[in-house]
Amino acid sequence: MDYSVIVIGGGPAGMMAAGIAGSKGGRVAILEKNRVFGRKLLLTGKGRCNVTNDTDIENHVANLFPQGKFLYSALFAFPPWKLMKWLEEGGVELKVERGQRVFPAEDDAHRIRNALVGFMKREKVELKTLQEVIKCERKGQGFLITIGKETLSTEKLILATGGCSYPQTGSSGEGLGWAEKFGHEVVNPEPGLVPLQTREKELTPAAGLLLKNVAVKLKNKRKKTLYSELGEIEVTGFGFSGALALSASLLVKEGQTYFLELDLKPGLEWSQLDLRLQRDLEDKNKDGLRDIMAGLLPRKLVVPFFEVTGLDPEKRASQVTREEREEICRGLKALSFTVTGKRDWSEAIITMGGVKCGEINPSTMESKLVPGLFFAGEIINVHGFTGGYNLQAAFSTGFLAGENC
Ligand SMILES: Cc1cc2nc3c(=O)[nH]c(=O)nc-3n(C[C@H](O)[C@H](O)[C@H](O)COP(=O)(O)OP(=O)(O)OC[C@H]3O[C@@H](n4cnc5c(N)ncnc54)[C@H](O)[C@@H]3O)c2cc1C
Repeated sequence: MDYSVIVIGGGPAGMMAAGIAGSKGGRVAILEKNRVFGRKLLLTGKGRCNVTNDTDIENHVANLFPQGKFLYSALFAFPPWKLMKWLEEGGVELKVERGQRVFPAEDDAHRIRNALVGFMKREKVELKTLQEVIKCERKGQGFLITIGKETLSTEKLILATGGCSYPQTGSSGEGLGWAEKFGHEVVNPEPGLVPLQTREKELTPAAGLLLKNVAVKLKNKRKKTLYSELGEIEVTGFGFSGALALSASLLVKEGQTYFLELDLKPGLEWSQLDLRLQRDLEDKNKDGLRDIMAGLLPRKLVVPFFEVTGLDPEKRASQVTREEREEICRGLKALSFTVTGKRDWSEAIITMGGVKCGEINPSTMESKLVPGLFFAGEIINVHGFTGGYNLQAAFSTGFLAGENC
């Protein structure tokens, strides 16, 4: 055999796996189709890289789907605190921001990528870029890997080719096809952490507006709340983007009906808001309703608000009826939109779906079907909310695969 271990995919999971495998000795190579390692990693956190979440394992498991529990062993083997210590000992200073999100102190994802490349070099991993694997197959107890006209043989194989999101970064789903050829079931990939499209377009004139400190609920067609969170959402020409819309998208299945409900005044109960409105209407009784709402809404939302609610902006404050007040409160506390679908792969931060967890040994990341075959990172059917959970999952599974291969 040419190699003891070959890792396909030079993202965070593959680089961690290769470095750990290299640290055990043997001839290890990592094959990456791009000119550089970690192209997607460099885009994470808008170039700042939210590398993990500084919370306990239970919290990570709770933020991972569809079965966060599958990652218990991986997270125990390489927990968030160990990743942070490993990075800091490697010279990457870190900082913790709102929601316990961890970033490099210099706000630069290159620091994380360079730490991983440095690690692989120190562990004598053969770094092979511009190597697009076109075929992987079983050969005796090992594997044959084809790159162009060249074929490499290896005893152990780690597939860390990522999912299908942001295909322009190299993650275009080939690994999932190979997993299927090896006999694995692949849960149908769907875009995740992706902006949502809505039927109603009245907010379009406010596109680009970032609404901070709002509460968002995602409801199914029976109006059951599936997701509820406080934070930021961005108005777009097609619907909504921003952290809360992306997180809600993890619960949206294609072809089903959902409603996104915005509470623009989460700090006020409905009755408190009504009292405030009554006061405003009395104090400014000669004003038009448009001026009253200008005091309650961001400037860009005032005109769209009247479009959505159907209220008359010219109506004098003194003439607003109780029913109209109720309508205003509903518009502020429960502004509802019909979700018609998700944006496509090019805008999806992660892939929902992937190699079925039940066919992977959670303590080693080895395939239960093909001895010597390992999986790491987003190729596995586990994905998380925003906050650093996806990268931690990639590092922890990469660590475990590297240790056990
Ligand atoms: C815009 C954006 C922002 C994000 N921000 C965050 C964040 O701040 N925090 C967070 O936790 N997560 C974030 N994520 C998610 C995170 O980037 C992924 O979960 C993570 O990169 C998955 O790592 P991976 O190593 O499994 O796969 P990838 O990073 O996708 O790496 C897979 C690699 O395999 C290579 N490859 C694929 N096929 C082949 C082949 N045939 N031959 C050779 N090489 C191949 C690809 O070129 C790629 O480099 C973000 C994602 C995006 C798109």
